Amino acid sequence: MAKTKVATAPMKVAQISNPGADLQIVERETPTPDRGQVRIKVQACGICYSDAYTKEGQWPGIQYPRVPGHEVAGIIDEVGDGVSEWKKGQRVGVGWHGGRDGTCLWCRRGDFRNCRNLKIPGISYDGGYQQYMVAPVEALAALPESLSDVEAAPLLCAGITTFNALRHSGALPGDLVAVQGIGGLGHLGIQFANKFGYKVAAIGRGSENAALAKKFGASLYIDSRSTNAAEELQKLGGAQVILATAPSSKAMSELIDGLGPNGKLMVIGAASDPVEVMPIQLIGGSRTIQGWTGERRQLIPRTRCVSPN
Ligand SMILES: [Zn+2]
Ligand SMILES: [Zn+2]
Repeated sequence: MAKTKVATAPMKVAQISNPGADLQIVERETPTPDRGQVRIKVQACGICYSDAYTKEGQWPGIQYPRVPGHEVAGIIDEVGDGVSEWKKGQRVGVGWHGGRDGTCLWCRRGDFRNCRNLKIPGISYDGGYQQYMVAPVEALAALPESLSDVEAAPLLCAGITTFNALRHSGALPGDLVAVQGIGGLGHLGIQFANKFGYKVAAIGRGSENAALAKKFGASLYIDSRSTNAAEELQKLGGAQVILATAPSSKAMSELIDGLGPNGKLMVIGAASDPVEVMPIQLIGGSRTIQGWTGERRQLIPRTRCVSPN
């Protein structure tokens, strides 16, 4: 049955009018969800470093004005036609993964994270810096009641990125895992790494974050300003994984020699200059460098063992 679309009251949005412009608060008509979409009453939206892509026009193809924000927690306020699995009043989150085509080779393989036509809230369409946003259903994650909106919002990008980067890094409980940077990503990475059972080395510049890193679950703190962090990691046997969160390619490059055999530098801090590495640094010890984006879905469908009991 077709829905009757009624005019809705205006809402406030914080938009970027042109690349390089400041955020501007304007009124717009509250959007109506199309088929396969929901409208979300935004309760909280985190601020991510990647919002700068929208502000500065650093992502190709952004159409302005654009409302940034991809760490959204809210309540479904209206559902479009064809939406049956989500209901009005349901609490949901929206993160970096804002939609996919479902038809490209990578989608057909279940690797939605690498969709050729990936949509990103705040870049491909208006994100969470507004009172109401519209998102396709494949962008939605259900939020548990135990998590407040303010706690949940940053987990939709920073939390998922660090959680999944570690989860897919190959590190096992007991392995030495270093977390470089104790900021928006790093402070979550240390906590997840601790809960995963790794031996966690936090790496920061200066000593001021040492106590904080230990409070989050790091078993040791390495001050890369006063010591050679790569050498310190080697004294401990070399790191199985270094989660590089601070957007400094120079700092990341300096850590590569801290990897142990088969170690992996997992890059999630989006710096814009090159990471420098000599091939021999990777060849010796079979080390790898890998990147990871904020993705909340299981890459490959899980196989479940079914027991007759
Ligand atoms: Zn983000
Ligand atoms: Zn696709």
